[in-house]
Amino acid sequence: MTDMHMGDQTVRYDREATAAIYAGLEGGWAEDCLCAGCRNLMAQRDAVYPSGFRELLNRLGIDANKETEAVANGPLENGLHHYGGWFFFVGEMVTAGEGISEVSDSRYFAYFFNRIGPCPKAFRGGPHLGIEFIAHIKWILDDHWSSDLRPAAESPSRF
Ligand SMILES: [Zn+2]
Repeated sequence: MTDMHMGDQTVRYDREATAAIYAGLEGGWAEDCLCAGCRNLMAQRDAVYPSGFRELLNRLGIDANKETEAVANGPLENGLHHYGGWFFFVGEMVTAGEGISEVSDSRYFAYFFNRIGPCPKAFRGGPHLGIEFIAHIKWILDDHWSSDLRPAAESPSRF
């Protein structure tokens, strides 16, 4: 395992073990989900993740196109859409810190190491850690963002 410092956080990671797991994964969460929010992310992953974040994922052995989970939280007042998501890797937390790293060379994008999150089966057999991100993303699909949200449950018919 190799140590990495990011802001006030320190983690230990195994790049080769992580890369081997990603090589065996077919795609990211978005490819499985295919809701409008996920398709909007898929359509612009290259633009959404700043280069510094991509370099970090690469250093950890993570495939940037295979997020563990992504959540589209809807539009912000500025017209962008709020997203959150996770990538997991083989590693462990050394110092949790307070830490959140913001990247300023793009629209709002922040990330931090987090023990909590939706860890996929492939990582549960050994030490694992998540990297969580928060992003403000443009809506670039023709479909409306809420076009395939599930309607609220209706009361059962009494007839
Ligand atoms: Zn989705």
